[in-house]
Amino acid sequence: MASIFSRIIAGEIPSYRIAEDERYYAFLDINPLAPGHTLVVPKKEVDYLFDVDDETLSGLLPFAKKVGRAIEKTVPCERIGLTVIGLEVPHAHVHLIPINGIHDMDFSKAKLDMAPERMEALAAKIRSALAGES
Ligand code: 5GP
Repeated sequence: MASIFSRIIAGEIPSYRIAEDERYYAFLDINPLAPGHTLVVPKKEVDYLFDVDDETLSGLLPFAKKVGRAIEKTVPCERIGLTVIGLEVPHAHVHLIPINGIHDMDFSKAKLDMAPERMEALAAKIRSALAGES
């Protein structure tokens, strides 16, 4: 069965899309640690990041970098943290999280519950920043 992220990429499940190209898809995490928390996913479904082929893996960081730059233009923060967990969804991905300190990367703390309108507005702002409109 396709992973939840493959179903999102295919458009079967809605997402707050930030960016995509032929190989990668970026969208807001539905339960963010901070506003702007974004997931970057290779479209090719592989569970474990270290099983992703080298070519796909080497394109992932440049793609995530562009997305991260757009997030930092949109969400006030010291920088964007990048991490890999992968314990919940068996489809390799990286987390991009606006941070001001190490505590902002603590995945054991309570996640935010952001209203859909706020999520969509934030996604739109990040997309604009990505397009160089802000
Ligand atoms: P991990 O697999 O890295 O441990 O965590 C998966 C992440 O995906 C979690 O932060 C979770 O909130 C997020 N997530 C799980 N299901 C969905 C979903 O259906 N949509 C979105 N946008 N994020 C999801």
